[in-house]
Formats: sequence, structure tokens, C-alpha cells
Amino acid sequence: MFTEKGYATHLDREDDLKSFRNEFYISADTIYFDGNSLGLLSKRAEASIQTLVESWKNYAIDGWTEGNHPWFYLSEELGKLSADLIGTSPEEIIITGSTTTNLHQLTASFYKPEGKRTKILADELNFPSDIYALKSQLQLKGYEAQDHLIQVKSEDGNTLDTQTIIDFMAEDVALIVLPAVLYRSGQILDMKTLTDEAHKRGILIGFDLCHSIGSVPHELSDWGVDFAFWCTYKHLNGGPGSVGGLYVNQKHFGNEPGLAGWFSSDKGKQFDMEHELTAAPHAGAYQIGTPHVLSAAPLLGSLEMFQEAGIQNIRKKSLQLTNYLLELIEAELKEFKFKVANPCDEITRGGHIFLEHPEAARICKALKADGVIPDFRNPNGIRLAPVALYNTFEEVWEMVRILKRIMTEERYKKYENKRGVIA
Ligand SMILES: *Cc1c(COP(=O)(O)O)cnc(C)c1O
Repeated sequence: MFTEKGYATHLDREDDLKSFRNEFYISADTIYFDGNSLGLLSKRAEASIQTLVESWKNYAIDGWTEGNHPWFYLSEELGKLSADLIGTSPEEIIITGSTTTNLHQLTASFYKPEGKRTKILADELNFPSDIYALKSQLQLKGYEAQDHLIQVKSEDGNTLDTQTIIDFMAEDVALIVLPAVLYRSGQILDMKTLTDEAHKRGILIGFDLCHSIGSVPHELSDWGVDFAFWCTYKHLNGGPGSVGGLYVNQKHFGNEPGLAGWFSSDKGKQFDMEHELTAAPHAGAYQIGTPHVLSAAPLLGSLEMFQEAGIQNIRKKSLQLTNYLLELIEAELKEFKFKVANPCDEITRGGHIFLEHPEAARICKALKADGVIPDFRNPNGIRLAPVALYNTFEEVWEMVRILKRIMTEERYKKYENKRGVIA
């Protein structure tokens, strides 16, 4: 029976990726299901931080060109290690900035209002930072966000309908920015179809990959997506504030970046110190200033693990974990009025499960007290992310057992139904 613990241990024995768990620092008495907010530290990431600290110690200024991973080329080297994760050529990626600064850079570069085409299309479910950035970019160009930022509506408050998004692609839209995976419900948008439809109408389109990279495969080059951007501290386990990334389709190479700086330069020319920028002939042109070397360092170790595991295998195990979790929720928690608010089919389900419950805030507090780390999303959402590289089927089983006990014994009633400062 799949509701028995033996079934979970059997799945763990059969798991081809099980050896990766040993490479992470996992606290013995917690079940960590929050890898989609902050991934865990791996020993390889720790070692690569140390490697770059040693370069600084041993080479000082010469670390830019000496040592195992010369800092001058590090952003490009990390781009190369990321290419398989999103299905692009290495030249189309650069590891730089953060999600929000990269969105600013890409909007400054790709949003070119002209004639009647002046609007930006986004959605009403996206993460606030993306919306703030788009609004400020509109304001910088002299437009009111109120009538120039169009946000696609969600019918159920959790997911977006492909046809509805397409219906919003009007003649006055210049640019579209959407998430690849929605941060609350975990829905994967149909990036290929949306890109085709946008291009048919002469609109440029970019995606935020924060919740998809390292969890689901992408074919951005094949789909012809114009640009994308992401953080690396969620599924990619780069650590708090690790350096983000961006992708620009090669058909846009040779354009000037909207926000230029000396690291936008062609590397051969950068130290000529001319006041006329010669931009790099690839995605490197979208860098601005000196790379944050020590915050990029953990990615050397972490991305290597993704290469070894393979994103297709990661996706396969991720789906097995979330399928198993959904089955257990259905079998064990039926009477407690949880609403499964993520898409259930495998094509549109990302790497986490999203449960809604009126008592969600305090249920999360009770879970934490019992050693399970979920995350709470205002006002009534519980996100549970069993991560392929380090979570087990047994942890999924155990988490459901603990949640059932919390509900049966009403242990959540000890807590206030209010979120903390960080939730
Ligand atoms: C995590 C996340 C962010 C965070 O932006 P930072 O600039 O990395 O702080 C932005 N957008 C989305 C969709 C996210 O999931």
C-alpha cells in the first residue's frame, strides 16, 4: 500500500539520484521543504567558495586572470554551466546581477515604445518585485503605469489561462513579461505557445525563471524566447543573495544594452578604457559593473551537480515526489479541507505543491514546531517543495504523517493565525 512507510523506503532505494543527498548539509531533525525559497548548502558549493577565497588570498589583483577560475571570465564560465538547464547556447547566458536588476536591465533594453505600441503586458499573479520594476521602467519612459501596465487576470486566483493571455496580446503591446512557473500555485506556463503567439503579433516576450530553473527543463532557444532572467538561490542552491542570471536570444546580439557599464564591454577592448563602448557580441553585453565574485562562487560547485544529475532526471524525480505527495494528501488529509491549488497534470505542474487552508498561517507554525519547514504565502497558502537533489520519499511520507497529527489533534490552535515578518 502506498500509504505505508515501506512504500516510501522502496521508492528511495530505487531512486537514481539518491547519492546527491549525501552532498548536502541536512539537519537531522528537520524535513526541509523550502528549497524553492532558499536551497540548501552543498559541500561542493562550500568548497568552491573556499577555492575563490584562496585565489584572493594567493593572487590578490592577479586573481582576475590567475587561479582555477579567473574572476574576469567567471560570469561567462557560470553561464556555460547553466546552458543545459534552460536549453540555450552558452553565449546566450550571463551570470550577473539579481532577478530584479536583470529585469530592469532587460526592460531597459527591450522595451522600445513606438507609435501606438507602448504598453507592457504582465499578469496579476506575478511576484511583486517584477511588477514594481516594470512600473518604474514605464515611468522612466514617461508613461503612467496605471494605463500602460496591463495585467492578465486569473479566473481562479491561482492559475493563468493560455488563451486568456493570448487575448491580451493587443496591437498596443510592445513587451510581455511573465513568470515561467508561478510562485504561488507552481503552474508552468506554455512558454512555446505564448512566444509563438507574441511573435505573430510583433511583440517581444521574456520570462522570469526564478521558480523553474533547476526544477523543470526549458528549450528557450528553440522556442525563440527573446530574453529571460532568474535568481540562483532557490532551486539552484547558490546561497543567500547568490548572483542571478539572464538569457538573451542570439538574434538580438549586437544591440546596445539599455543600462551600460564597463563590464558590458567586449573583453578584448575593456581595458582600452575608451569612452565609446564596444559591447560584447553576446549576452555578456548585459552586464553592468564588476561581478560579485564571492556571491557567484558557490555556483561553481552547485551547477556542477546539476550537470551530473541532468535536468531531465531531476524533473522526473520531482514529478514522482509531487505525485506521491498529492496521492498521500488525497488519501490521508481528505477530511481537513485542504484545497490543492496547484495544477495536478504533469505538463503544467512545477516543482512544488500549493495547499490552501483558512488556518494556513498557524498550520505552518505548527509544522515548523514539529520539524517540517514549509513556507507560508499570504493569506492562506502553504507551499511544499520536495526537491529532487536532496529530499526523499520517506520525508514526504513523514511530513504527511506529521501534518495529519497536527490536524487531528488541532495542534495548530496553539498559535496565532498570522504571518511572521518573513513568510
Ligand atoms: C524570488 C523571486 C524574485 C526575487 O527577486 P530578487 O531580485 O532575486 O530579490 C523575483 N521574482 C520572482 C518571480 C521570484 O520568484
